[in-house]
Amino acid sequence: APPGRPTYKIASIPADGIGPEVISAGIQVLETLTKELDTFGLEFGHLDWGSAYYRKNGQYLPDNALDILKGYNAILFGAVGDPEIPDHISLWGLRLAICQPLQQYANVRPTRILRGTSSPLRSCSRRDLDWVIVRENSEGEYAGHGGTSHLNEAWSVATEVSIFTRHGVERIMRFAFETARSRPRKRLTVVTKSNAQRNGMVFWDLCASKIAAEFPDVEWDKMLVDAMTTRMVLHPETIDTVVATNLHADILSDLAAALAGSIGIAPTSNLDPTRANPSMFEPIHGSAFDITGKGVANPVGTFWSSAEMLRWLGQGEAADLLMESVENVLEGGVKTLDLGGKNTTKEVTDKVCGEIERLI
Ligand code: ATP
Ligand code: MG
Repeated sequence: APPGRPTYKIASIPADGIGPEVISAGIQVLETLTKELDTFGLEFGHLDWGSAYYRKNGQYLPDNALDILKGYNAILFGAVGDPEIPDHISLWGLRLAICQPLQQYANVRPTRILRGTSSPLRSCSRRDLDWVIVRENSEGEYAGHGGTSHLNEAWSVATEVSIFTRHGVERIMRFAFETARSRPRKRLTVVTKSNAQRNGMVFWDLCASKIAAEFPDVEWDKMLVDAMTTRMVLHPETIDTVVATNLHADILSDLAAALAGSIGIAPTSNLDPTRANPSMFEPIHGSAFDITGKGVANPVGTFWSSAEMLRWLGQGEAADLLMESVENVLEGGVKTLDLGGKNTTKEVTDKVCGEIERLI
């Protein structure tokens, strides 16, 4: 970009499975966008962390990983997971080892039906499904607190303790109410399970009521997580912004991605809303070893995540342009197998780049 225009440093961590395929597609599209727009620049740093790195070094990332990441404005992440390494080792070794210390406490998953795709729900139109799911991303059920006592075959104990702190719950509530306020419908659903989980979830409800008082212009309701799954399927049009715990929102957002068309499309932002640390953007899908190396992975989840990254960096116009290009291409029928198309990752990527060039 010309001098005086901002340049953002992006750390790219493609990691495992289809991660490298979708991340290189994402970078190709982002580079086309910045070249055509010429209003800001992106500088990529390529980090080879992941399961191959673990095999060589016995850990998923180097000791100074967090210092390295703090030198960047944002992180673009692929996927982590390896068929030969237990999932809890790889997840905690890489993704959570970044999210938790960098205080990316808000995991945000926008969900809508893109033009050119459809919901598996026959009755659900594009107008009916336009959600943002806000997931608490730093504590709760995934705090990693617990232990096991394997005394003998007949008597073994394992605990998985959920942790809810006032600091943690109030900050995610405030973030969720702000997100709801920024959207046209200004409506938030707070998901709980306070009938059965009588400590942490009752506390969660208490914090919701307290923070709600700061947002009199946001209409909000509470819903038990089990009832919420049926509401998502039967009355999607009544939902706008949703906030839920680490575990509950993990499950709800996978359901949301499926209802919106395919897990290959959905994006995730792991945000540090204080902006003290870089935030991380990644497709919702995992490493998908069944299709790795075949060149058929859907890159749209990474394109959408890249658009969310640009939005977070203050480049909303570029983000809109990227999404318009993606939706034009999908509507034109160029899509991968998971969307009922017959195109490869490369064909979809080249087509999106061509569409960006045409629009600008
Ligand atoms: P992980 O263990 O890392 O979560 P996974 O093997 O469970 O990975 P997911 O990525 O969670 O796989 O997705 C489940 C299935 O959905 C995959 O096996 C794959 O067939 C399909 N899938 C996921 N992502 C994509 C994509 N980007 N394009 C096409 N199909 C995908
Ligand atoms: Mg998986």
